[in-house]
Amino acid sequence: MVTTTFSYHGVGIRAQNERLNLTDMWKAAGADNSRRPPDWLRSADAKRFIGFLAETLNVVISHDEQNQGLTRVVRDGGETHTEAHWQIGIAYAKYLSPEFHVWCNTVVRDRMEGKLAPAGMVSLTEKDFERLTDQTKQIVAPIVDGLHTLTGRVESLEKNLPQRRPILPKTREVIVATIVRLGRRCPCCGLAEVVAQNGSVIDAEFDHFFSNQLPSAKHAWLICKPCHRSLTDGTMDRTEADIHFASFQRRLEKLLPPGDAKSKKATTDHHS
Ligand SMILES: [Zn+2]
Repeated sequence: MVTTTFSYHGVGIRAQNERLNLTDMWKAAGADNSRRPPDWLRSADAKRFIGFLAETLNVVISHDEQNQGLTRVVRDGGETHTEAHWQIGIAYAKYLSPEFHVWCNTVVRDRMEGKLAPAGMVSLTEKDFERLTDQTKQIVAPIVDGLHTLTGRVESLEKNLPQRRPILPKTREVIVATIVRLGRRCPCCGLAEVVAQNGSVIDAEFDHFFSNQLPSAKHAWLICKPCHRSLTDGTMDRTEADIHFASFQRRLEKLLPPGDAKSKKATTDHHS
C-alpha cells in the first residue's frame, strides 16, 4: 500500500494508493462547516462527476467488500473520514476554494499521476532512499573503475596499432579501369557516376572494404561519397554492401587482362 501525506499550510492530507482523504482536505482548506465532504458528495455536480468517472474507470461508486469503489467512509475511533479517488478529490478541492484547487491541481495531481503510472511502485522514505543510493554507489564504483582501466588499455592498443595502409596508385588504376568497363558508375549503388569520361575520379572515394590494413584491389573499391558515408556510419545494410562488393570483385577478376591482374597481385604481395 502506498501512503503519502501532503502538507497544505502545515495541515496534513493523507493519500493511500489512489485515494485522497477528503476530510483532511476539508480541514486543510479551512474547515468551512457548510462545505463538508458529505455535503458536497450529495450535490448534483458531484454526483454527475463521480458517475462519469465510475463509468470511465469501470469502478463502482461506493466502497464494497472487495475494497473497491471510488468513495468510502472510514470510521477511525471517534472520527469519521471520507476518502475518494484522487480525481474526485481534485473536483472537491474546486468546491472548497480557488487557492486550494490550484494547489491540488499542481502538487496533488502531479504526485498522484506519477504514482499511478508504474504499477506497484513503492514509496520510499528519505532514509530508504539514502540507503539505496549508498548501495547503488557501492555497486557502480567498481564498474566505473573497470571502465577507466579498459579505456586506458584500448588507448594504448590504438597507439600500437599498425598504421592505416593506403590504397596505392597502381591499385587505384586497376579499380578505376574496372569501373570504366562497367559503365563508370558507383559499384555500390550503381547510380552515381564516379569516373568521368576522361578517366578521372569524380565525387567518389576509394574504400578499404574490409579493414584499413588490407589495401589491395581484392579488398578495396571506389564508391560514390553518399555510399561511402552510409557504409562508414553504418546506415547502409552491411549484407547489401557485401553483395555489391562481391559482385564488383567477380567482375574485376573477369574484366582485367592478365597483365593488370599480375600488377594487382604484385601490389598485394609488395605490402603483405
Ligand atoms: Zn554509390
